[in-house]
Amino acid sequence: WDATASQMIAIINRVRADKVTTLRAEAEHYDFLIVGAGFAGSVMAERLAADAGLRVLVVDRRPHIAGNAYDCLDEAGVMIHQYGPHIFHTNSEEIFTYLSRFTEWRPYEHRVLGHVDDKLVPIPINRTTLNELYDAGLGSEEEAAAFLAARAMPVASVETSEDVVIGAVGRELYEKFFRGYTRKQWGLDPSELDKSVTARVPTRTNTDDRYFTDVFQAMPAEGYTVMFSRLLAHPNITVMLDTDFRKLGSQVTYDRMVYTGPIDEFYEHRFGKLPYRSLRFEHETVNTERHQSVATVNYPGEDVLFTRITEYKHLTGQDHPKTSITREYPCAEGDPYYPIPRPANAELYKRYQALADAEQSVTFVGRLATYRYYNMDQVVGQALASYRRLKREMAEVTLS
Ligand code: FAD
Ligand code: UDP
Repeated sequence: WDATASQMIAIINRVRADKVTTLRAEAEHYDFLIVGAGFAGSVMAERLAADAGLRVLVVDRRPHIAGNAYDCLDEAGVMIHQYGPHIFHTNSEEIFTYLSRFTEWRPYEHRVLGHVDDKLVPIPINRTTLNELYDAGLGSEEEAAAFLAARAMPVASVETSEDVVIGAVGRELYEKFFRGYTRKQWGLDPSELDKSVTARVPTRTNTDDRYFTDVFQAMPAEGYTVMFSRLLAHPNITVMLDTDFRKLGSQVTYDRMVYTGPIDEFYEHRFGKLPYRSLRFEHETVNTERHQSVATVNYPGEDVLFTRITEYKHLTGQDHPKTSITREYPCAEGDPYYPIPRPANAELYKRYQALADAEQSVTFVGRLATYRYYNMDQVVGQALASYRRLKREMAEVTLS
């Protein structure tokens, strides 16, 4: 944390003053309209402006850039993530190097504890978790593997999020760590969700208590919003906030569009609504320097309605006499945050995808536009790949 609060506000205000435009009376023409200023839209904008030299208008209906990765100072001056904790991790050197042009990094490895049996134990389940829960005295990887093997249940074909976990650790640990959390988070039983959901969380026989094991793990040194302000700083990029692209009317004309919002909304729910899961974030500033010993504590029990509590100062390294936390309450209604991975939804998405594939001048990029449970780095990778494809297509059109 090397930006003071006032520096940070100055940077964000400068971006607002320089970049954020209001509608003018006369029509403006752009090569590209980009809907959404999150990772997908901002990376596409940066590439189209800086690499292809095109004029780009980015619109977002929210009052800020950075999409769900938006961070800001709360009233007490503590940096928080408005849409829940965002921890950057990737194995891709290309993605890390690309983003490093817009930010410096603060090395950070995420750690999570689970509130289970009135104890706080490491998640993902590792040897320490087993020893602390069962007083098992497991001294080696082999012993931990044997302990788990004795509990794991044979699953003929691993299809669901329940299968993955009971096949690895058995029913008891599944119920302690996964069943309640998943039911709260998704409003569905793990047996109704694709295996890919709980497979995000591994089981370990060693004592590695990091949540992720990626090669690159770090937080943008001055926060995500400042990083986004640099992504969008190119003179060929104009940003309009508080603007739904449907309301632009004839004041803006453009040749092509990149759309990063929900795909079913783009097609006015022609085939019905794609299910998304939402969250209500309860942000709180606490009058103490530290609230909990690690950044995130998960609460898998169904006795509380929230899934986890995150304390941001662990992520940001900020020095402040107070600290701010967020509780996440999953809900069905509200902003769409998570596509829900299950076969019926994949089928419905395919029908929208067929419409999207047939579009000549619209490119769909991002977590909501491609209905994929993607992390930030995956969205950046998808945007860089989409840009390369678009560039080739545009070159072919110019040649023909
Ligand atoms: P978004 O960030 O959603 O951006 C889309 C933008 O489009 C939005 O700002 C929206 O306002 C705008 N928009 C939509 N429709 C319109 C319209 N009609 N007109 C104008 N604007 C429109 N990833 C990680 O790698 N690590 C994490 O720790 C992590 N934690 C997460 C925690 C939570 C609670 C959530 C919800 C997600 C988390 N993610 C994390 C995932 C990460 O948020 C996404 O991968 C990433 O932000 C997706 O970027 P995007 O550009 O596709 O979408
Ligand atoms: N999960 C769980 N218990 C935990 C952590 C995760 O059951 O303590 C399951 C749950 O279904 C969750 C999924 O694993 O939605 C993926 O977890 P992750 O932490 O990757 O979720 P995200 O950060 O994307 O919300």
